[in-house]
Amino acid sequence: MIIAVDGPTASGKGTIAKALAAHFGLPHLDTGLLYRAVGRQVFLDGGDPDDGGDALAACSFPDGLLLDPELRTEETGGLASRASLHHSVRQALYERQRSFATQPGGAVLDGRDIGTVVAPDADVKLFVTATIEARAERRWKEMQARGDTRSLEQIAADLRLRDERDRTRAEAPLRAAENAVVLDTSVMGIDEAIAAAIDAVDAIGGRNAE
Ligand code: C5P
Repeated sequence: MIIAVDGPTASGKGTIAKALAAHFGLPHLDTGLLYRAVGRQVFLDGGDPDDGGDALAACSFPDGLLLDPELRTEETGGLASRASLHHSVRQALYERQRSFATQPGGAVLDGRDIGTVVAPDADVKLFVTATIEARAERRWKEMQARGDTRSLEQIAADLRLRDERDRTRAEAPLRAAENAVVLDTSVMGIDEAIAAAIDAVDAIGGRNAE
């Protein structure tokens, strides 16, 4: 079974994808981490993420970079979002995601374009979303716990900018696949959101088996 989980930043999609993988005994790939590694590598190289050549060169980042805690910062998220606009970068990361998705037994992948581009034939597609206010507050709390002193307003502005870039880009824009189940987590606690996602997978899995 392939489960595609898409959605904007801080919607809860990563936590939900991880929980689905544990519940259904499937391997999980956070595809945003690959784009973050490219953004971080461009920075380490002293390059420009808006430059297609610099961004493509950064796609050969070493695997060890995926463990770098700097990948989790909002700054790296912004660099990732800029680097992800280039066709060559998306192509370079596509094969890795596609072979993960199609491994025997299935997998859970989360990102922006899993249900639409990477695994359009996924058995279950979830689109996890939440209001900008709810997402900004979650991210702000996470950042505060890490000692980041940025204001809630600053974080909301960064999320808005990144959402806008991800939604309006020409290639593989962030959007729900036509047959995706939309899960709005704005007023849900995390346990409730996970339970709703498991129910959605069970319902679709049951329907597919009929
Ligand atoms: O999900 P995360 O916030 O870690 O992703 C970082 C950035 O990587 C996103 O803002 C988006 O621009 C890009 N991305 C993408 N396609 C994916 C996953 C992430 O373009 N499948």
